[in-house]
Amino acid sequence: MHLPAFLNSYFEGWDPEEVRHLLTSPKVINVTQGCSVGCDFCAMAASKSVRVMPWPWVVEIANRVWSLETEETHNIPWVGGIKTIQQKRHTINSLFFDSDPLKDYYDAAFDKDFFDVYTLFNPTFISTAGFEMGSIGERAAQKLRNYFDERWPSFDGIRVSFSLESRWARELGDKAYISHMKNVFQVLQPNEITILTTNQNRAATLQAFTRAFGRLAGEVPGAKVCRPHFEGLAKVNLDPAEAYYQTDGSVCCIDAYVLNPNRGVVYVARNEQNGQMDYRRVNFNQMIKSEKHKELL
Ligand code: SF4
Repeated sequence: MHLPAFLNSYFEGWDPEEVRHLLTSPKVINVTQGCSVGCDFCAMAASKSVRVMPWPWVVEIANRVWSLETEETHNIPWVGGIKTIQQKRHTINSLFFDSDPLKDYYDAAFDKDFFDVYTLFNPTFISTAGFEMGSIGERAAQKLRNYFDERWPSFDGIRVSFSLESRWARELGDKAYISHMKNVFQVLQPNEITILTTNQNRAATLQAFTRAFGRLAGEVPGAKVCRPHFEGLAKVNLDPAEAYYQTDGSVCCIDAYVLNPNRGVVYVARNEQNGQMDYRRVNFNQMIKSEKHKELL
């Protein structure tokens, strides 16, 4: 297919060394920017409107990542299938940042959803706040579930977040939201469920969750508590006998570049003073010109 000129290259005008540095560093390929869930307390300050990276750019970035990856890591010794997993962890940290691409990614011109994006990059972890029955998100999720079933265990897990305190849940109403989320759990069978809430009374929140989902715990095999990522976000073990919450104060595991859909690249870094969720975003194009950063190239 002949592409319009404005889709020629995500990196048009970039210095090749800058591209190499960017694509061999920790990074997020943020294929959507903004989030249609709209949690009241979104720690990532996600915009209400969602931008989608054109599919040809997603393919271009994936091709460049993998060709650099092959060059830079071809000496890593093979230990069973571990080399592949190490490579993936080295290059792709995530496909989401202030976004929920499983729910929101769709390029109608190419009929591509998040399943197509996922299989280009193959990160070992996936997270979503859910999708509606019959939506493009459900289409992607059904394909992903089959894909994971075939490739287990070269995959760490699926995390699903549950947020009644969101614009999406309010628009649907509690009853419809819960039906859609039950379907999400049934389709994806997550091994980790996260409750997004501002409610400081964690026991009450857990009770409300348990009431909402009834016997769900028994229907989600392997559900477990994993390490939580940020304050205001609580993880729940679905086994009622062991249910508890944890929180901590960090939003993101590492400092990283974020490649946004509109060719905007930012560097997101933990606040050096307090190490907490107060993130500074540094414009990549300004940073790359600084002397300090040149030393890193
Ligand atoms: S699902 Fe995540 S990114 Fe989306 S609004 Fe909620 S906390 Fe923010």
